[in-house]
Amino acid sequence: KSFHDLGLSANLISNATQAGYKSPFPIQEQAIPVILSGKDVMGIARTGSGKTASFALPILEKLQKTNTVRNRNIAVLLLVPTRELAIQIQDVFSDLNKNLDRKIKTMAVYGGISINPQMKDMIGVEVLIATPGRLLDLLDHNALSLSEVAIFGVDEADKMFQMGFDEEMNRIIEKLPKKRQNLLFSATLNDKVSEMKTRLVIDPEVIEI
Ligand code: AMP
Repeated sequence: KSFHDLGLSANLISNATQAGYKSPFPIQEQAIPVILSGKDVMGIARTGSGKTASFALPILEKLQKTNTVRNRNIAVLLLVPTRELAIQIQDVFSDLNKNLDRKIKTMAVYGGISINPQMKDMIGVEVLIATPGRLLDLLDHNALSLSEVAIFGVDEADKMFQMGFDEEMNRIIEKLPKKRQNLLFSATLNDKVSEMKTRLVIDPEVIEI
């Protein structure tokens, strides 16, 4: 299969080609049409499988077709366990975020650096990639609202639990609208990840690579 067969627009396929992606990796072949259809997804995938583009491409495809004025109401929230992963995902979005039907602002936020620039930069953000602690800090400062989140994703869920983010994740999930699309990615499937899957992934399309 080619990226064309997966339901992506020509401009995104061109960005993927420029990023060096010739044809879709297996996880992309499976996840992209499902995410485009609006279903929840549980993906068991490791780093190196191409999992980041498997959600970044359909997220950008869906967003470029919508046109909502964003102030501090983000549309897509992606929770990640580490600053490194947040930056990696932001880099993939930057690569794929060119020449879209309209400009889409994406941002990565994490702890260990000053919160003020992140608060200022939040205006107009549509895709936010965040570590849990910093996200909660930003919410306490009213830097953003989660009330219009349409897509919620957790990447490296197993690592989230390993790092003890259980409570932070719960506090964040409570603030999300009930009606939303959920994406859950994990390298491994342990008890805690399964429990999260039961809770989040309502009508799951499980993809294992
Ligand atoms: P990830 O698993 O998301 O960390 O991606 C691993 C690596 O694969 C990254 O360096 C991507 O740039 C690359 N990649 C992702 N999708 C493709 C593709 N379809 N063809 C070639 N390389 C890809």
